[in-house]
Amino acid sequence: MSYISGARKVRVMARYDVIVVGAGIIGAAVSYYSAKKGLKVALVDKKYPASGASGACNGGLSYFGKSGKLLQDAYDSLILYRELAKELDYPIEICQDELFVQLATTEEEIAELEKNVEECKRFGLDAEMVSKSTLHSLIPGLSNKPIGGAIAQGGLHGFVNPFTVIYGYLDKVKKLEGTIIPNWEVVGILTSGRKVKGVVNKKEEALYAPVVVISSGFETAYLLQSLNLTLNIMPNRGVVLVTEKAPWKLKKKLMGANFGSTGQNVSLCIEQTLEGNLLIGSSQEIGVLIREPNIDLIARIANNALSFYPSLGKVNIIRAFTGVRPHREEGPFLGEIKEYEGLFVASGHGGMGITLAPWTGRTVALMIAS
Ligand SMILES: Cc1cc2nc3c(=O)[nH]c(=O)nc-3n(C[C@H](O)[C@H](O)[C@H](O)COP(=O)(O)OP(=O)(O)OC[C@H]3O[C@@H](n4cnc5c(N)ncnc54)[C@H](O)[C@@H]3O)c2cc1C
Repeated sequence: MSYISGARKVRVMARYDVIVVGAGIIGAAVSYYSAKKGLKVALVDKKYPASGASGACNGGLSYFGKSGKLLQDAYDSLILYRELAKELDYPIEICQDELFVQLATTEEEIAELEKNVEECKRFGLDAEMVSKSTLHSLIPGLSNKPIGGAIAQGGLHGFVNPFTVIYGYLDKVKKLEGTIIPNWEVVGILTSGRKVKGVVNKKEEALYAPVVVISSGFETAYLLQSLNLTLNIMPNRGVVLVTEKAPWKLKKKLMGANFGSTGQNVSLCIEQTLEGNLLIGSSQEIGVLIREPNIDLIARIANNALSFYPSLGKVNIIRAFTGVRPHREEGPFLGEIKEYEGLFVASGHGGMGITLAPWTGRTVALMIAS
């Protein structure tokens, strides 16, 4: 079958209710919640599921440090995570009972953490300031660098293995008669006037649907550019170091008070996987796309972590990995693009995409179905 769509001659391969572009954690979540609403979904990826940032990140789950609506959204998402393994009937590797600890090294950082604690309390969420001596009793082996900090228990902070979440969502999408198509790179969005018609690949093969959701990580920007649209989504490279299994249980997530603030090239983040390996991060480099981290950056991340937690010197770093976050200064964009009926974007989650994925998927599916 061949159709003229706009100025293009394309072969229409199949029709769906919704096409989701990008099988990272956001596209997978949007696909699952859309399929759950009874929509016929196709999820396409230019490579394979989890090949973007979602497969190269820490997987940390936290609400602390966010404010306003974002704090509420993160909280809602973490609540959805609690039931996800049961809901998907899939073995998701998740831990939500860690103590979240943020460490301050200056009075300015203490003031910043106090604001975050107040914000959590305003929302009725667990968080409190703690002294240096309390930090030392909570974290044996901590250095003298932190002058105080904030902690949050709450039964929601922790980490998840994003691969198991993505594959759990995809497994359920297939059971709900959705279609997953790897190695299918969208090179253009098909439109007719102000309406979306579908997507096309390099071979001029088209998939048709009245709704297209772009959730292609930092590459969302390129697909929007092809329609002369922009949402200020930019690549933000992050590097994480992985150690061999540590012979102790950390049971905490340690973060620097400056973690996540734009302009901080390297900030502290130490988490432990269920197997015992420590993930040490991380860095932020806006505009950088190269996947290989340089040795200078690796050394700065390691030295920064050692300066907070010298016990790290007892374990070897076995590898480093790089992921590219979809950064958007204003926070994630979720919704329909006003220029084209049926064109939705779910992207720009920066360093919060794993935490916010279930809430994002549910919210976007609601928007599509309404
Ligand atoms: C080092 C690092 C640490 C992080 N730590 C955390 C953390 O602790 N907690 C947290 O909540 N978040 C964390 N994040 C952020 C989180 O990883 C991201 O926000 C999230 O993974 C973004 O998911 P996504 O689905 O939007 O994008 P991605 O996972 O990048 O997925 C996009 C997908 O789109 C596909 N694609 C791109 N272009 C096309 C196209 N034209 N056609 C078809 N497919 C296409 C890609 O192949 C890819 O599979 C971290 C990120 C990094 C890099």
